[in-house]
Amino acid sequence: MNWFERMKSGFRTRKKKGLPDGVWIKCDGCEELLYQKELEKNLRVCPKCDYHFRTSSKEYLNILADEDSFQVINAEMTSVDPLNFKDVKRYTDRFKEYVKRTGENSAILTGVGKINGHSLALAVMDFSFIGGSMGSVVGEKVVRLINTAIENRLPLVIVSTSGGARMQESALSLMQMAKTSANLFRLSQQGLPYISVLVNPCTAGVLASFASLGDITIAEPKTLIRFSGPRVTKETTGEEMPPGFQPAEAVLEHGFLDMVVHRKDLKATLTNLIKLLT
Ligand SMILES: [Zn+2]
Repeated sequence: MNWFERMKSGFRTRKKKGLPDGVWIKCDGCEELLYQKELEKNLRVCPKCDYHFRTSSKEYLNILADEDSFQVINAEMTSVDPLNFKDVKRYTDRFKEYVKRTGENSAILTGVGKINGHSLALAVMDFSFIGGSMGSVVGEKVVRLINTAIENRLPLVIVSTSGGARMQESALSLMQMAKTSANLFRLSQQGLPYISVLVNPCTAGVLASFASLGDITIAEPKTLIRFSGPRVTKETTGEEMPPGFQPAEAVLEHGFLDMVVHRKDLKATLTNLIKLLT
């Protein structure tokens, strides 16, 4: 019986019983089914192939900062919509939706805390908040954190993941590239170190400003580090990039990165670097 005959006869294939939501997750690296709880225990790294899953800013804080040491600053700061921007949705509506979905007010968490007993100024971006895009708030929070680092003589660590500038804020978002870069120069004039950690994916305006200005730049394995995403590259050059182009390992080979570090070793590596640099 072919498909058409089956439909006519009223025969239906039995609906496949789905896997319960949130219990299992398919690995993007090796396509194995992984038990969600096991994955969380393994810092959201696939135990079979070492694929580093995307992780929220709060989870990174748990991985990096000493327990109960992190104090968030400027958490309430939120975007306004000076351009009254609308694409398929109003920017304000899109924004509210992400606040509700993620429980955050922006694509970056900033604050001061400790890492193995060493005080630091720490920022962590979150890709799940409008693709980790940098608008005025992300830029301003980075600058205020740099000021905090200078005032308190603290080393600065920023974990960056981003799709780039926030197009809904147009030129205002592009200005954040210059603003953050200029303020990092002030930090360096004070002799304070800045370690940049790139996590998957790290692209465009964020990569082209504060993410690539670290005294030391680290990336997690296979992090995609490039100026534009696959769709934009194809639209601009007319060429399809090979899948996975271009990972941290290739960038390391070309001298743009200082090291590729597994998530489980990130805290120890940052601790050693802070010890060396301060
Ligand atoms: Zn895997």
